[in-house]
Amino acid sequence: MFRIGNGIDFHKLENNPSRPFLLGGFEIKTDLALVGHSDADILLHAIADAILGALSLGDIGQYFPDTDESIKGINSVLIINKVLNLMSEKKFKIVNIDSTIICEIPKIAPYKNLITQSLSKILNIEPDCISVKATTTEKMGALGRKEGVGVFSSVLLEKVTF
Ligand SMILES: [Zn+2]
Repeated sequence: MFRIGNGIDFHKLENNPSRPFLLGGFEIKTDLALVGHSDADILLHAIADAILGALSLGDIGQYFPDTDESIKGINSVLIINKVLNLMSEKKFKIVNIDSTIICEIPKIAPYKNLITQSLSKILNIEPDCISVKATTTEKMGALGRKEGVGVFSSVLLEKVTF
């Protein structure tokens, strides 16, 4: 039995050298940072939402509301781990994940393999089950004006059989 899900996330960009820029747990060395209540790892958020979507279990805002002061600055690996636990409870595993990062800056291409390796460790799946792509909006709209970053993720889950 298979289940498919998609997740979408957007975060604003700011210039903040003291805040890490995280994508899938990998830190890109840049003065840019994503604004957010958590550590703003937009790729982990989109993947978490895609997994929850495949399981019909709502969205990460339900589990980690941005009004909750106790989780301010939370490491998004904790968010994805919560979602992976929910997935295991439902007896599903990840078949593959395909993600597209949309932004003008920073340039993602040099880091795609490193981001994939990081995701492989966090999600405990083989790198060839993970696709990380990048594109721009051809300078159109808010993302084109370098005001933020968007990520779309799709995930396929399969029921674990014993
Ligand atoms: Zn987010």
